[in-house]
Amino acid sequence: MRFGFDIDDTLINLREHAFHIYNHKLHKNIGLDIFMQIGRVEIHEPFGLSDEEGKEMWNNSLEEIYYTNCPAFPHAIETLQMLDKAGHSIFYITARPKEHGERTKEWMKQKGFPVNDARFFYGMKDEEKIDIIKDLHLDYYVDDKPTILKTLTKEPIHLLLKDQPYNRDIDDYERMINWKDFAKLIKTES
Ligand SMILES: [Mg+2]
Repeated sequence: MRFGFDIDDTLINLREHAFHIYNHKLHKNIGLDIFMQIGRVEIHEPFGLSDEEGKEMWNNSLEEIYYTNCPAFPHAIETLQMLDKAGHSIFYITARPKEHGERTKEWMKQKGFPVNDARFFYGMKDEEKIDIIKDLHLDYYVDDKPTILKTLTKEPIHLLLKDQPYNRDIDDYERMINWKDFAKLIKTES
């Protein structure tokens, strides 16, 4: 089968990683309990930053956020390795900016994710992911953002929503809380 994955906050815990970086850079010590209560993708609010300042903070921290030791979610790497070994095709579709695409690909390989160079897509806007995903004829696609899954509902793809505090009000998609559950959520052809 053909599996497509978003990267940030689907396979790797990027927002929490960035939250630690913000604490460090801004000399704060805001707890993860506060982090868990943030009801949106952006993480700047507990630091008292406006949306504009938050955007600037994010963009100025990108190098550190993307290329340091952001952890994968538990069992994400193992799950994808297992799919790869079983002969399935794995695609990555990330909206990370174009200039970060190739480095991100190498970073993912170093991290232990199974990456085929021809199956790694980046640099599109969130709402443009559909253009690529449609052509890939995926059987499954996993993302943390309901707005992206919404663009795909007319396609014959099984959609899975990676559970996050900011998408808990949405119940339109099958929800994956832990990567350990992934194998149970996919319908095997046998
Ligand atoms: Mg994401």
